[in-house]
Amino acid sequence: MAKQNFETIAKKRALFSQRVITLVLIFVGIFTVTYIVGLAATRHNARALVEPTDSQSVDADAETKDGEDADSENTDETGNAQTDEQTTAAPENSNGRTIYLTFDDGPGPYTERLLDILKKHDVKATFFLTHVYSQYESMIKREAKEGHAVAVHSYTHDYNKIYASTDAYWQDFNAMQEVIKAQTGAETKMFRFPGGSSNTVSKNTPGIMTELVKQAGEKGLSYFDWNVASGDAANNISGAEVLQNCKVGVANYKNAVVLCHDVKEYTVNVMDEFITWALSKGYTFAALTPESDGAHHRVNN
Ligand SMILES: [Zn+2]
Repeated sequence: MAKQNFETIAKKRALFSQRVITLVLIFVGIFTVTYIVGLAATRHNARALVEPTDSQSVDADAETKDGEDADSENTDETGNAQTDEQTTAAPENSNGRTIYLTFDDGPGPYTERLLDILKKHDVKATFFLTHVYSQYESMIKREAKEGHAVAVHSYTHDYNKIYASTDAYWQDFNAMQEVIKAQTGAETKMFRFPGGSSNTVSKNTPGIMTELVKQAGEKGLSYFDWNVASGDAANNISGAEVLQNCKVGVANYKNAVVLCHDVKEYTVNVMDEFITWALSKGYTFAALTPESDGAHHRVNN
């Protein structure tokens, strides 16, 4: 009797254990199915979020990549294919400041090298041109073709000649305008006075700068000075100093118009480093347009 009872209890316990195990297995089964279905749904949603902004195939971990892109955007700016990525990521990285690199007195022997550097970074600049190194004139065509602004500086860059009279100034101006038109097929509305609008090299013709500024307005032309001087016109300056002047100078302006000379080899030599640095700090580069702020100096004559 006792033995029989014991066997019955043992059978009942075994049956109970089997039921518990079965229930646990069913529970685990349901949980697993639910988890797999849930995961699939999440992945589908992630894909749906990504696809409208990126036509390339992107998997679920694209979100992680996008999150890291805030830092890697600097390298994106050096490339050409930066359409969607830049539109969405630029506000995070941009410091809201624009650098207008301007190069005077060329084209010259180092202009081609400079254009290669600008192209590498997809950066646009402005060239205030002369006819002084006429053998490099075809560079003007390349400058315009690659999206840079081309503008008049001076045909001769001879202060005594061009500031002898207003007529002499515009005669020299028109000669350079003709060269630009021959190279690019179009005239420019922009120019920079040799020595800047504040120059005193024109003092032998009293009042000429005041008169030229007025006449430029009447002709519908925009003139540009600068608010950051690279200092590269000096003969005893090093590339390292030019680089430092540019870095320190651009930090002071929302729109920095930087005066450089592409006829100075040490300037061209530091441009790759300067542009790389500026892009890493979130600066944007742009070419001047006739509507840009002219960074005008005070006219002294
Ligand atoms: Zn000049």
